[in-house]
Formats: sequence, structure tokens, C-alpha cells
Amino acid sequence: MSDRFKAIVAEQIDGAYSSQLKELAMSDLPDNDVLVDVEYSTLNFKDGLAVTGKGKICRSFPMVCGADLAGTVAESTAGAFKPGDKVVLNGYGLSETQWGGYSQKARVKSEQLIKLPGTLSTKEAMAIGTAGYTAMLCVLALERHQVTPVSGQALVTGAAGGVGSVSVALLSKLGYTVIASTGRSETHAYLTHLGASSFIDRAELAGNPRPFGKERWTGAVDSVGSNTLANVLSQTAYGGCVAACGLAGGPDLPGSVLPFILRGVTLAGIDSVMAPMKIRLEAWERLARDLDKSKLAEMTTVEPLGKVPELAVAILKGQTRGRVVIDVNV
Ligand code: NDP
Repeated sequence: MSDRFKAIVAEQIDGAYSSQLKELAMSDLPDNDVLVDVEYSTLNFKDGLAVTGKGKICRSFPMVCGADLAGTVAESTAGAFKPGDKVVLNGYGLSETQWGGYSQKARVKSEQLIKLPGTLSTKEAMAIGTAGYTAMLCVLALERHQVTPVSGQALVTGAAGGVGSVSVALLSKLGYTVIASTGRSETHAYLTHLGASSFIDRAELAGNPRPFGKERWTGAVDSVGSNTLANVLSQTAYGGCVAACGLAGGPDLPGSVLPFILRGVTLAGIDSVMAPMKIRLEAWERLARDLDKSKLAEMTTVEPLGKVPELAVAILKGQTRGRVVIDVNV
């Protein structure tokens, strides 16, 4: 086995932040119990923040970026894993406090690792990635709050992004009538193919929130936040639920309590990073079952590790579509 491998490493030297493709030695890896030969990672909004330094994601340096990884176990001192196992790891502080997935090798904690459901390849797992797994957590939250395909329409904001694209595909496969909100009309054909039935221009939801609007949808997956989330809540039908997972439009919530107290609307907060293992396993099992693989392939592009810095800038500008898989070995 070669002693050297490539990774995207963030550093902060004399207060100056940088991230770049570097060569590391096996002895640089942290001292955890499972060594993974990483095959693929992925690009999420948060990775854009980490790689560019526009968000304070990395908390210690040097830090290998990348919130996700999938690959094959090479060595393990943990009973639950053996060489050859196909595994996936999302969140848990990867790229924040623990070295992440933009790397050909990773030494990780076995208690954070998941064996891939047999029907998913490592490439498909990263086509899903944190964004897709978060989309599934949102769908599970809607289900927990009795939002079903017969109870009304489901809205997805930031629909052409990663969380949005997977949400549209999942909800449509499960039988929901999906309204997609996007700022990019050129993605309508793409979103229609994923399962969207109708569209709302994102500008319509981005204006000053009205405290209480006409009931338009019963469930929503929101990855935008701010005015958009407030407007989504104000137009959610009686007894409905909004799963809020993102802040692509801003972290504030300038809304009213009227939807909660007059319509019994639920605002379900979604966190993927520290989600308990039980719900992670449920989400991955459901993704293996409920996500149409041909649609997943359609929303996915594959890019080399060296292109991550450029892609990080693009995702923050809302210029990427669907999911971007990073092949760490090209
Ligand atoms: P993407 O960049 O792929 O998607 C975000 C989408 O939001 C864009 O494609 C765009 O959709 C829309 N958008 C971007 N900027 C704005 C804006 N200023 N106003 C309104 N809409 C905007 O990111 P991801 O899908 O990876 O992540 C989406 C959000 O979810 C991020 O905020 C991310 O941090 C968060 N997230 C949270 C997780 C959690 O654990 N809670 C886990 C994963 C992601 P369109 O072009 O269709 O309008």
C-alpha cells in the first residue's frame, strides 16, 4: 500500500484561510478504529462554505474537508466491520471537528459508520450524500406528522438544488403531488422528469412574508429559510407540516405564529449531522427502497477531487444542479 494519498486540506495560517489539494502520509491520519479506502465523496452547500472559508465550518486545522464519504473498509479493529465491507459516513462533524471525505483514505470511528444497504453502490450512496439523506429525513418528518399523498400537495423549495432534487424524486415516487419552487425556469423540464407537477417561481415566496395566506399545500420541504420559510408556513393547510432543513436564502425566520395557533401547522426541524444512528439507518433503508435509481443518475454529475475548490464556489452561487459526486481517485 502506498504511504501517500491525496486530500483537500483546509489550513489557517496567521489568520489566513486556504484550502487546496495536497498529498498526505498515512501517518497523518487520525487514530480511529476503521481505515476506509474512500471511493467517492460529494458536494453539499456546507462543503462550499467549508472549502471557500465563507462559513466557519472547520473548527480545527489542518482539516480534510468533505462532509460525506463512501468506500471500502481496508482495516478494522472494530468487531462490527471487516475488510471489504462497503460503508458510508455522513456528517458527525466530518470537515468540522473530524477529517472528512475529500480524501483517498480516511480513518474513522466505527460507531459513526453505516454498512451500505446491498442494493446501493458507493457511487449511488454519494449521489445521495448528506443532501439526499437530509431529504429523506424531511420526508420521514412529514410522514410522522401524518402528511400523506392523499392529505394534499407537497411543496419543495430550492427544488433544483441537492436536497430539493432528491426531495422531489422521493415525494413523487411515494405518490405525493409535488409543487417545485425554483428560481431557475430552465430546470423545469429536469424537475418535471424527477416528478414535479407544477412550479412556483422562488421570487413569489421570497417577498415580505404575509402572516397568514390562502392554504396551498399540506406538506413542505424547505431548504431556503428566511422569508421563503415564513411564506411557506403561512400558506400551509390546516394540520400540515413543514420540514425545515436549510438556509440557502438566509438563517432568519421573519414570520408569524398564526399558522401554528390557528391551523395547527407543525414546523419540524431537521438536523442530519448529529441525527441518532437509529434514524440514520431508517433513512438509508428507505432511500435504498424509495429512491428511483434512474432519477438519481439523472440528477447526478461526477467530478474529480481536484475540481472541488471550483465547485465549492459554484454551489454557493446556486449554480450547481442536483447532486455532484466527487471521485476522489481521479
Ligand atoms: P444546493 O446549493 O444544492 O441547493 C440550494 C438551492 O436553494 C439552490 O439550488 C437554489 O434552488 C436555492 N437557492 C439558493 N440561493 C437561494 C436564495 N438566495 N434564495 C432562495 N433560494 C435559493 O444546496 P443543498 O441542497 O446541498 O443544501 C440546501 C440547504 O440545506 C443549505 O442551506 C444547506 O446548508 C442545508 N442543509 C442542511 C442540512 C441539515 O442537516 N439541516 C443537511 C444538508 C443541507 P433553485 O435554483 O431551484 O431556486
